[in-house]
Amino acid sequence: MDRHVLTLNAGSSSVKFGLFDIEREPTQIADGEVERIGDVPRLKITDASGETRADHALRGEGTAGHAGAINAILAEMDTHFPDRHIASVGHRVVHGGLDYSRPCLIDEKVIGDLTELSPFAPLHQPHNLAGIHAAREAFPGAPQIACFDTAFHHDHPWVNNVFALPQHYYDEGIRRYGFHGLSYEYIAGELKRIAPHLYAGRVVVTHLGNGASMCGLQNGRSIGSTMGFSALDGLPMGTRCGQLDPGVLLYLMDQKGMNADEIADLLYRKSGLLGLSGLTNDMRTLEAAGTKEARQAIDYYVFRIRRELGALCAVLGGLDAVVFCGGIGENSRMIRSRVLQDLGWLGIEIDHAKNTDNARVITTELSRARVMVIPTNEDMVIARAAAAHFSSR
Ligand code: ADP
Repeated sequence: MDRHVLTLNAGSSSVKFGLFDIEREPTQIADGEVERIGDVPRLKITDASGETRADHALRGEGTAGHAGAINAILAEMDTHFPDRHIASVGHRVVHGGLDYSRPCLIDEKVIGDLTELSPFAPLHQPHNLAGIHAAREAFPGAPQIACFDTAFHHDHPWVNNVFALPQHYYDEGIRRYGFHGLSYEYIAGELKRIAPHLYAGRVVVTHLGNGASMCGLQNGRSIGSTMGFSALDGLPMGTRCGQLDPGVLLYLMDQKGMNADEIADLLYRKSGLLGLSGLTNDMRTLEAAGTKEARQAIDYYVFRIRRELGALCAVLGGLDAVVFCGGIGENSRMIRSRVLQDLGWLGIEIDHAKNTDNARVITTELSRARVMVIPTNEDMVIARAAAAHFSSR
């Protein structure tokens, strides 16, 4: 019986998962999600050929919470993939703090450390931990591996790490950590494989999903990113604000009497594309909407990406390549073409036909910098880490 790795990404109201065969190079055989946890959860499983294997609501005993979701995933996999043998479980964990710079085996100490980091990522870390607890119960014999979104940025230069606050805040961990590290690690690995000369150069990766950030890579290593202390900074996102003058927060507290919970709700859930458009956080819907507010939301989104691209190029001292990834980066021709227009001064000349075709390279032969579209795969990075741990035992 082949050995498998289960990857888990537990969020506030969802658990996303992937099933990988690790007998040789990890190969994905299924993925899926339980969404709407806390309401009426719904389970969806798709196999590697894209065929839907399950899509139904979860009702009844034992289906509540993250534990219920994981048990439902397991029961469904028993039906559809009866030959699986889960050798280890890999978890996406948003925050590894100062100490966790690579994947690690989860034990009581790690759980204690990650729990202590929860105040740094209150909207993500507790849910990641809930997933870990539920998986440990469901697979008591399997090693559980934590993979961190912050780890890829661990060796950022100090100037990209620091805020200009009194030094003791930095020492306490109030720093720019950066996130989406699993996605950047995957893209760096793909670049090394398919375009090693670009991997060795100056690259800006633009991850545009529901969350969005950009990262400057030099020689495959992160030297700067747009997300900072939290996953709020940098680009506007589906429902998150992106860069904001801290004076706005002071005003909201002083003049509007808003407390921390209300401000968190505003900045994480009601801002970004949703806040600006008053309509939706979903780019596809926005593109189709055609209202003035929808257009303005897109205008601001594009403006910020271009601005951060310029800033990261200055930090990198030039540009050899841009990579687009994430649901919007991989699919929205319109966003890519608007971001890339009139960037001749950066050596970018877009090939509109290739962009429309969603080609891997969307710049002309003569373009000095190359722009690529590379589908990201955070689950694969987790699966590889979990498989590597298993084979090294
Ligand atoms: P998550 O960060 O939750 O993994 P995704 O990476 O799947 O999210 O990105 C979701 C976003 O991608 C949504 O805003 C969705 O509208 C957008 N998207 C997906 N396909 C397209 C498309 N063909 N055109 C424009 N936007 C798209």
